[in-house]
Amino acid sequence: MVSTQVTPTAIATNGTVQSSIGEPERSLYDIAVGQFHLAADILDLDHGWRAILTHCKRELVVNFPVRMDDGSIEVFTGYRIQHNIARGPAKGGLRYHQNVSLDEVKALSMWMTWKCAVVNIPFGGAKGGITVDPKQLSLSELERMTRRFAAEISVLIGPDRDIPAPDVNTTPQIMAWILDTYSMNAGHSVPGVVTGKPVNVGGSVGRNEATGRGVVFAIQEACRRTGTPLEGSRVVVQGFGNAGSIAARLLSASGAQVVGISDSRGGVYNAKGLDIAAATAYKNAHGRLTDFPDSDAVTNAELLTLPCDILIPAALEKQLTEQNADKITAKLIAEAANGPTTPEADAIFFDKGAVVLPDILANAGGVTVSYFEWVQALQAFAWSEDEVNSRLQTIMVRAFNDVYEIAQEHNISMRTAALVLAVKRVVDATQTLGIFP
Ligand code: NAD
Repeated sequence: MVSTQVTPTAIATNGTVQSSIGEPERSLYDIAVGQFHLAADILDLDHGWRAILTHCKRELVVNFPVRMDDGSIEVFTGYRIQHNIARGPAKGGLRYHQNVSLDEVKALSMWMTWKCAVVNIPFGGAKGGITVDPKQLSLSELERMTRRFAAEISVLIGPDRDIPAPDVNTTPQIMAWILDTYSMNAGHSVPGVVTGKPVNVGGSVGRNEATGRGVVFAIQEACRRTGTPLEGSRVVVQGFGNAGSIAARLLSASGAQVVGISDSRGGVYNAKGLDIAAATAYKNAHGRLTDFPDSDAVTNAELLTLPCDILIPAALEKQLTEQNADKITAKLIAEAANGPTTPEADAIFFDKGAVVLPDILANAGGVTVSYFEWVQALQAFAWSEDEVNSRLQTIMVRAFNDVYEIAQEHNISMRTAALVLAVKRVVDATQTLGIFP
């Protein structure tokens, strides 16, 4: 019999997760499950529903050899997890990072289920990755590792089954290698097997910018609904990769002042605003932001507590915690990253009236345009960038308002409201399908 996954923590109604002193740090999956139970309580879900939705449907772990440039062999560990496929084929990115673990990928796959449901696109949730620091690999090692990984997970992926996309340290080029490997084995081109691929092999215009652009649409809508002007507001962005750098560029173009940015090596700050185009060029040229002209150096910890109106965590998980939440001055926190806020920090933000636009809403622009890319690949018909961006805006604005109404109605955080919306949609779909057999 399937049993509900029991978390080692007690969840209070305001969203806090109480753990006793000395207890080991909760895993990311436990955090995701704890968030789910808050929504399940509001929806009054019984044991059976909680059991279904707190288990990942499929968990594939692969250990595979790769020949390195010097002729030696290294074995890498990779994952592909499908959390739920009630609403459609599984969808979610692939991450290459030294901290990738089964637990992390499971949490990210669960959040993908909710994210696709929040924006109401017909996908379930998946995630994958390899435990590797890709900066230590040559380009040809990276390609061989990627192609072997693609072959290993091809028992699960496919255009009507499970469609990977880029995430941390994975690029359009890496998606092209996966597409090519899958197509070579199929014997024909299968452009719908991945999204986020380069435009010249069937990628969508607008996909590369979609996550950052979606974050900005969510922020604009939050400003509109709360009567806060975006123009002139001070923004800090942690993580200057795909999601963070595009969000910074578009916010700067909308009249906001981006005062702080960072990457894994550290951050830079200028109270009068940074030149984001120049910072992007500097990062491309030097591979880092430190020593960027006309700015002061700050550590990654200092960056988060800089004086600002809007904070965008766009790097990794568990960045906003009970240690720094009180010192964070932003009134609006838009989660470009997945899982950057711990439940303790969530409760502190809620109590002090800071609004958190949760990952499953704020960064859903990426998977939304991935959906557009998949639709275009299946139809072999390319849309214009204007069409992509305006459809994205429609979906993000609608999703924001759906979530906002639920938050207002129940006096709950935007995160719990987004989960209420998403979990209900997944439960409804499962109810319609029935429990097989
Ligand atoms: P990326 O690899 O393009 O960029 C990550 C950035 O974070 C890099 O600049 C890196 O230097 C920086 N970074 C890493 N550790 C850091 C630290 N401790 N402090 C500050 N900066 C740090 O990755 P990305 O695709 O932009 O993904 C970033 C986040 O956004 C992840 O949580 C990812 O899951 C999420 N996300 C990405 C997409 C997408 O379409 N790419 C979609 C949804 C969510």
